[in-house]
Amino acid sequence: MPLSKHYFIILLLLSLTNSCTTDEEANISPNSSEQTNTPNSNNISSNNNNSSSSNSESVINSNFECGNGYYYLSRPVPSESDDTHRYYEYEWQSDPPVCVNVYQAELLGGRDEKLKSSMDWLRTNLPNIIPINVFYIDQFNASEESKLQHDIDFCNLVSEPNELEDCIGGSTDSWGDRSYGGGVYGRYLHKGADLMMYDDAFVQDEGLDSGLIYLAHEYFHTFQTSHMFYFEEKQKFGISIDDEENGVPLPFLPIWIGEGGANFASISLMAKQNLDFNHYDQAVRFLNQAREAMRGSSSSFSLENFESENNRINYEYYAYDGGFMAHVYLWHLNEDNFKKLMVDFYSIFAEKYKLNPLDGWKDAFEETFGISLEDFYRDFDAFMRQDKESQIAIIKTAEEWINASWD
Ligand SMILES: [Zn+2]
Repeated sequence: MPLSKHYFIILLLLSLTNSCTTDEEANISPNSSEQTNTPNSNNISSNNNNSSSSNSESVINSNFECGNGYYYLSRPVPSESDDTHRYYEYEWQSDPPVCVNVYQAELLGGRDEKLKSSMDWLRTNLPNIIPINVFYIDQFNASEESKLQHDIDFCNLVSEPNELEDCIGGSTDSWGDRSYGGGVYGRYLHKGADLMMYDDAFVQDEGLDSGLIYLAHEYFHTFQTSHMFYFEEKQKFGISIDDEENGVPLPFLPIWIGEGGANFASISLMAKQNLDFNHYDQAVRFLNQAREAMRGSSSSFSLENFESENNRINYEYYAYDGGFMAHVYLWHLNEDNFKKLMVDFYSIFAEKYKLNPLDGWKDAFEETFGISLEDFYRDFDAFMRQDKESQIAIIKTAEEWINASWD
């Protein structure tokens, strides 16, 4: 199943509970890991967990240990608060690092180096605002010991100490069936986002580089979710007091924007790396999948139905692929929308959410694109009922994807 979005599950939208799920996964090994810097980055550190060694060293700043302890063991005291939010400044803000935790590298055939170098490219070219804890393991062939270490590391990132045992024990049955994931919740924002990759990403039948599209997709989830907490003017992260009290892990973002946006960004990010990958063909494949999901649908079928629904129709996920086409459609309406889709929408998100917790994302959408959401849904739904040739015609050429700029 090449490049199916089947794997594109994220912590962002699917797991709204506090439990540890396979969608959210993270880092750090209390007692494992040997760590090296990748040559071309001060900030990407790698952590080769072999489940037996036990040292980790700080890579960038003295408060951060890639394999042990994150930035803060517990959330720091807010530097400021108002009626709705508590605001935080984190020591890592000036230069948020990336930590790559690799388990049993001997099983990975050098693909861990490929992943690290792509990760380095991503963080250089679309800089993020929080640290990222990448976890990379072969979920089919890794030893029980490595898998346990992986879950311990992840759970240390996303759980409170009193939830740790439940988290570690809660997902052992899912090995072999785990999905890639990426993102961050308010409760562990101070420790950075998680990004889960499994080696099966690279053994699809499309050539080795094609697996990196999953990394790009998940990386964009870390970008989206971190910005949903970030107040640009204050240069602080803000967590909604209500959300915290009600156990809401992060602000609401429609699934078609979350997943469609990550699919869209994954094509954009893949296009610009020098890879053995046909990003234009992949864009057309997303269109085909969206069309397949619509096959046999009634005239009431609408993107609007995929704000909170992520069901599979005719084996395809419209939120992902129709969501992708919604981004392509917006770009086709206006050249400037490319940057808005990649960056600007997310830059104003936290501020809009603060003003309007119920529908802040709609305000952000309408202000960013200068179109009412109602009009957009109507026009886009009509477009998706056109013939395939008209739809392919709005997909930018391979060259245009390469040259498009979010700066
Ligand atoms: Zn996703």
